[in-house]
Amino acid sequence: LNARAAERMARPARTGDGVPIRVLVNVNEITEIDRLSPQICDGVGLTRTEFLFSEGAPSEQRQYEVYRRLVAWAEGRPVAIRTLDAGGDKPLPGITVDGESNPFLGVRGVRLSLKHREVFVSQLRALARAASLGPLKVMVPMVSVPEELTTVRQLLREAVAALHAEGVTAREPALGMMVEVPAAALTAEDFAADFYSIGSNDLIQYTMAVARDAAGLGHLTAGDNPAVMELIRRTVAAGRARGVEVSLCGDMASKPEHVAPLLAAGLTTFSVAPTAVGRIKLAISEARAPGREARAG
Ligand code: PEP
Ligand code: MG
Repeated sequence: LNARAAERMARPARTGDGVPIRVLVNVNEITEIDRLSPQICDGVGLTRTEFLFSEGAPSEQRQYEVYRRLVAWAEGRPVAIRTLDAGGDKPLPGITVDGESNPFLGVRGVRLSLKHREVFVSQLRALARAASLGPLKVMVPMVSVPEELTTVRQLLREAVAALHAEGVTAREPALGMMVEVPAAALTAEDFAADFYSIGSNDLIQYTMAVARDAAGLGHLTAGDNPAVMELIRRTVAAGRARGVEVSLCGDMASKPEHVAPLLAAGLTTFSVAPTAVGRIKLAISEARAPGREARAG
């Protein structure tokens, strides 16, 4: 299996019946790309930028340099960079709110960014500057209602305008959202997102009322739970209706046993851990695209 997965890794993914599927990688730390060839993937589907904030808020310039490195590494492939997703399982001293009784249901993700405007605007400025160098996309975590995304888009536009007024090269990047709150999955069509990326880790947690690190509740957090699959199908349908891409970047995408059900749900873009690329491409090659079973059989 390992040899076959390694052999698959170098080639673009296709289902057994020949439908091309995009396989992107998740980046958790900038150093991860040093050991990785961009040729094994179709781009970056998720960059978790929390690593930049581990010692407090970084300068705009430091962020710009890291985002520029990602864009250069990808050699023209799309790179989705998620804005700071602090809070919940990702506490950041000095940034996240102390003493919340339930931080997973508190001020986290975009809710926190909208409260820390200076920190957020400096990230948006760095992203807009790096977007002038290649197909960088900005992705917003923990969006629950359409107004949050609208506010972020307005801040992004203002950041671009301010940079231009300062004579700095910048471009307004595509702006998408994580779909990881059930309310967002249920109403995905109402959000003016340029793309959707399903965060199955949090989507499962909030749908099943099981903490993502809870022990002994695996029977409730299996990704193929019918309620979770229904939310995934709805998000895929919303993306189709609005003509925008839907990917899935949670851990579920990195597990071969979920490939067939996700393809059946209509998903055509997977964003996976770099170490999972080979085995996911292999699983895709052994599966069929939806609606093809009858014809093939
Ligand atoms: C998710 O929630 O599935 C996700 C991809 O984001 P994170 O694991 O960083 O919360
Ligand atoms: Mg998440």
